[in-house]
Amino acid sequence: MKKKDLGINTICTHIGELEDHKYKGAISPLYMSTSYAFEDVEHKRYPRYFNTPNQEALSIKIAALEHAEAAMIFGSGMAAVSTGVLAFLSSGDHIVLQNMLYGGTYNLVTTQFEKMGISYSFTDGLQAKDFEDKIQKNTKVIYIETPSNPLLTITDLKAISDLASKYDLISIIDNTFASPVNQNPIDFGIDVVIHSATKYMGGHSDICAGAIATSKELMEPIFKLAINLGGSLSDYTVWLLERSIKTMGIRVKAQNENAGHLANYLEKHELVKKVYYPGLKTHKDHELAKKQMRGFGGMMSFELDENIDAREFRKALKFIKSSMSLAGIESTVLAPAQTSHGLLSPEERKKQGIADGLIRFSLGIEDKEDLIADIEQALKEVSKNQLAINTP
Ligand code: PLP
Repeated sequence: MKKKDLGINTICTHIGELEDHKYKGAISPLYMSTSYAFEDVEHKRYPRYFNTPNQEALSIKIAALEHAEAAMIFGSGMAAVSTGVLAFLSSGDHIVLQNMLYGGTYNLVTTQFEKMGISYSFTDGLQAKDFEDKIQKNTKVIYIETPSNPLLTITDLKAISDLASKYDLISIIDNTFASPVNQNPIDFGIDVVIHSATKYMGGHSDICAGAIATSKELMEPIFKLAINLGGSLSDYTVWLLERSIKTMGIRVKAQNENAGHLANYLEKHELVKKVYYPGLKTHKDHELAKKQMRGFGGMMSFELDENIDAREFRKALKFIKSSMSLAGIESTVLAPAQTSHGLLSPEERKKQGIADGLIRFSLGIEDKEDLIADIEQALKEVSKNQLAINTP
């Protein structure tokens, strides 16, 4: 059976396992060695060459998950983003990026690229035409993120890959929010797929890692830069990540289901002004999301009624904690204006449509009735206080 024919849970559980021939243990053994005897210099193993036994095995699993020929694992999502993007850019080159991006990526581009002689343009919208408008003679890369953080906008994968082919550009996607369970951009012609594996791949809020999946050919420049930048991951964490990915399929499906349910509930709530979730029929890109995603993901955002103080609401939640990260098995919320997009100027946030009161909601695997009960008690608490403040 070909890897591509296997179901997602079988790939998560079995592909890329290291066999324990000696003791027949059920899981991959962990090789912590940083030094390996070699037969010839060409085949030396070393953690920063990304080729220890555990790194190689997990790369096979991630490549299979993303329908790619090759994959590499990094010490963080940003190590993967910076290495993956810079591998295709030199001084004098230009990159076109979508205007809705993870704040850290935006910060990397706007604070570091100019001094490397790399110019960049952000699109004014998310249609292929918006990207085409920004292409210059020296453009080498198109960079997208879909669904995006935090407004869950959807970019058309096929339209972007067609555009990249037309102008001979490398197309790169940050696929973190979807996870390979919900979306495989390579099937739509995208060249390079990047993940913050700190999110759905890790899934338990205890691993910081990144990953890149692409063709063998495009992995060459990425690998050459990666061994110089040195963003490799410790083998212990590689091993933990492999264990986490074994349950990614069932985790993400449970998170998709919770997100769909909560999005419907919040959309009907009288104290909620707007819900951003691609699974909702009212989402402006719902039809496109249906075309390119198998599930709509565990992330959503919503704006409360103006009379509700969003900060007080977050504080009143009992087990849905305010947290920086996302995609863990526990549900969390955050205010993008103060955290993930806090590095953007207020004008830039406004331009991107990120209201100060916007709440990003990362759905975990708890029972949906309990999540709703927590939200209800918090809204009750905050609206009671609000009423007290407004009553003379
Ligand atoms: N991409 C997205 C969409 C993210 O949300 C994040 C982190 O929140 C990153 C990249 C960066 O990943 P890391 O924090 O693992 O470096």
